[in-house]
Amino acid sequence: MFLNRAMGLVKLRILLVVLFLVIVALVSIAITLRTTPVVPALDIPSSSPIAVAIGTPLPPTESPTSVNTNFFGTVNLIIPVAGVKPEQLIDTYDDARSEGRVHDAIDIMAPAETPVLAAADGKIVKLFQSERGGITIYQLNANQDLIFYYAHLSRYADGLAEGDLVRQGQIIAYVGDTGNAGAGNYHLHFSIAAVSDPKRYWEGTNINPYPLLQNRAQLTP
Ligand SMILES: [Zn+2]
Repeated sequence: MFLNRAMGLVKLRILLVVLFLVIVALVSIAITLRTTPVVPALDIPSSSPIAVAIGTPLPPTESPTSVNTNFFGTVNLIIPVAGVKPEQLIDTYDDARSEGRVHDAIDIMAPAETPVLAAADGKIVKLFQSERGGITIYQLNANQDLIFYYAHLSRYADGLAEGDLVRQGQIIAYVGDTGNAGAGNYHLHFSIAAVSDPKRYWEGTNINPYPLLQNRAQLTP
């Protein structure tokens, strides 16, 4: 009697499980039928435009632009010689110079006595005369992390003194051929250096001014 009852319970359980499985199967069949679109069997020749469109590979994705995380920010420089346009500039940064040196600067050609302009706001830190550079100016930018060096000047702007704060575009000197520029080879030798200590203005890592003056690219050391 007790055994019969137990057997009955087992049968009931088996029946329930089977019923459950049947329901699951029916539901899944119903879902499959609903989500599967009924596609009419179109007779599309393989050379049809549709077939070509499907087979056309996607255009190649452009290579990601290199991102240098070690940058100082953007610098908004102007070309430091009056009247000179970006397209007139020539990248002479990697040019060889005497005694195995590399130029590390840009030479901006201009007639004698053309005004030399402050490339950015900042401070005149040193007015210096040297054999190679002739009459020169060292200028610090407002952030005090860049030094602008102007060389081969004919003369300074009237009254210019060390410690002066200058505005971008202010006339600070005039184009000349002093130092080792070569007589009559009038141009501004302009270089940019990233400095860690603004007091040591003569030390620093040179940065090519050309792209910065060309299209105001981001500054990377
Ligand atoms: Zn030069």
